[in-house]
Amino acid sequence: MNERYSRQILFSGIGREGQEKIGNKHVLIIGAGALGSGNAEILTRAGVGKITIIDRDYVESSNLQRQQLYTEEDVSEKLPKAAAAEKRLRAINSDVEIRALVDDATPEVLEELISDVDVMIDATDNFETRMVINDISQKYNVPWIYGACVGSFGMSFSIIPGKTPCLNCLLRTIPLQGMTCDTGGIISPTVQMVISHQTAEALKILVEDWEAVRTSFVSFDLWRNQYTSLKMGKAKFAGCLSCGEDRTYPYLDRENMTKSTVLCGRDTVQIRPSNLGKISLERLATQLLSLGYKVKGNPYLLSVEMGSERMVIFQDGRALIHGTKDLIHAKTIYQRILG
Ligand SMILES: [Zn+2]
Repeated sequence: MNERYSRQILFSGIGREGQEKIGNKHVLIIGAGALGSGNAEILTRAGVGKITIIDRDYVESSNLQRQQLYTEEDVSEKLPKAAAAEKRLRAINSDVEIRALVDDATPEVLEELISDVDVMIDATDNFETRMVINDISQKYNVPWIYGACVGSFGMSFSIIPGKTPCLNCLLRTIPLQGMTCDTGGIISPTVQMVISHQTAEALKILVEDWEAVRTSFVSFDLWRNQYTSLKMGKAKFAGCLSCGEDRTYPYLDRENMTKSTVLCGRDTVQIRPSNLGKISLERLATQLLSLGYKVKGNPYLLSVEMGSERMVIFQDGRALIHGTKDLIHAKTIYQRILG
């Protein structure tokens, strides 16, 4: 075993055997924003065998305050977060197999990725995706670690199928939906604290120290100096549609999938056409330029200025329309450009 992990091996909770286990495991990180970058960096440094990270967005300057993997260069190149993260993580630790996907974490995409995953890390900013992760976790018996933060407030919970209540159970006791939109701003220490909870739990799961896994729901407010830990044993609900006996995994139902969404806490709408397919960004750029549009791009995406709005189109036809929260208006813009 290499010198690189000597301090981690000296730690009694891990040891040589634990390190070997970590090196043979696969972690799926959903989201490459603030929580995603921090989780990915720590787990890459820890020597996890394989890390898959998925994100639908690209790097913007307002991310740099807390999204630790990204640089000003990534902002000026408008790199997708997944691509920028991959580059940085490979530079940090070449032992780790890094796979990065510029995509939406839909049920379809996650079901394709899940087969050899040992633990999933929630680094999303929206409730809908968390419920999808929760159903995937129950269906394929893979633990996941919930994490969320806003302002100076953060929380985390480890969900182990068959042992702990699931997120759908928790909804009956904790009003989690209101906590997911980061409209109130955020300070970086809050993010780091959630990351610490998530990665510590991930390491316990990776070394299979199930006794050590936290079973309580932890929340804190770093500005108000509060720290709470709620026992969750009784929160398991027998009639739960995600983890109960008559489970249906409601959030994996494709009919339930929203094709277009207003993104959390931002003046942005995502349009996801029902039949995604590879589009030629180069050809589209030439077309738009000839029509007089201001266009900028890289191999992953194309950014088109259109008055007060800006549209970013990805290779698969998915688009982010900035400057509006109006779904109908956003769809009109999408059709104008991609017909
Ligand atoms: Zn449940």
